[in-house]
Amino acid sequence: MVHPACIGLQTRQNGRMSNGAETGSWSYTARTDIGRVREGNEDSLAAEPGLWIVADGLGGHSGGEIASATAVATARRVVADAVPDADPVEVLGDLFARAHAAVRQEGLGTFGMSGMGTTLVVALAGPDGTIQVGSIGDSRAYLLRDGRLRQLVRDDNYAEELLAAGVITATEARVHPGQYMLTRALIADQREPGTPQVARVDGPGRLLLCSDGLNSELEDEEIARLLGLPSLDEAADALVAAALEAGGRDNVTVVIVDL
Ligand code: MN
Repeated sequence: MVHPACIGLQTRQNGRMSNGAETGSWSYTARTDIGRVREGNEDSLAAEPGLWIVADGLGGHSGGEIASATAVATARRVVADAVPDADPVEVLGDLFARAHAAVRQEGLGTFGMSGMGTTLVVALAGPDGTIQVGSIGDSRAYLLRDGRLRQLVRDDNYAEELLAAGVITATEARVHPGQYMLTRALIADQREPGTPQVARVDGPGRLLLCSDGLNSELEDEEIARLLGLPSLDEAADALVAAALEAGGRDNVTVVIVDL
């Protein structure tokens, strides 16, 4: 039983789903929450055995919702259609290209929607059980291992570019207005899809995919502490509750997987 909010097929406000342990070799859970300020939830997610996705729609009104739901639905279809022993890195490349093409078609085909777009972060299990994470945009993937939290892919935003160029420090990047200026996303009226950043995860740990409604409200130390709570459901509930408590200024989505 998959909650509709989790496959992005219809408009939704808040949703929760948990635990596919009976259908795969991973335990996972997911939540999405509209937050305390926004009028709609433009985030979409998917959580199924071997495939976990968060997308954060851009463009306001229904555009963002359509863009993120389109990207998630397309990503699921690409993975479902892939041959069983396909190279997961190649599948990810195809997935991002086709998700962008679908968002582009949807946006250019709808009056007033050509500016719609979405972030997309995907974790995909390969045939050997390793996980490949791909991302375009500023939705995040974190790995918690031995009590230490590591961000697996960089944010595609202007503050991150300034940081990489040595113009600002990591501390400055955290409060820099450039963190809200995306440098890359799957945008309908952009011709080039862009290449996703890809990171490989081997071995055990707890994986978190989230929209920026989580990490813009909470410091990494707080995310690490709550993500480390004993059960996946406790961790998911605590992370969303803490983001809401801190202001809930954006939609909040978390997908958590025990590897
Ligand atoms: Mn957001």
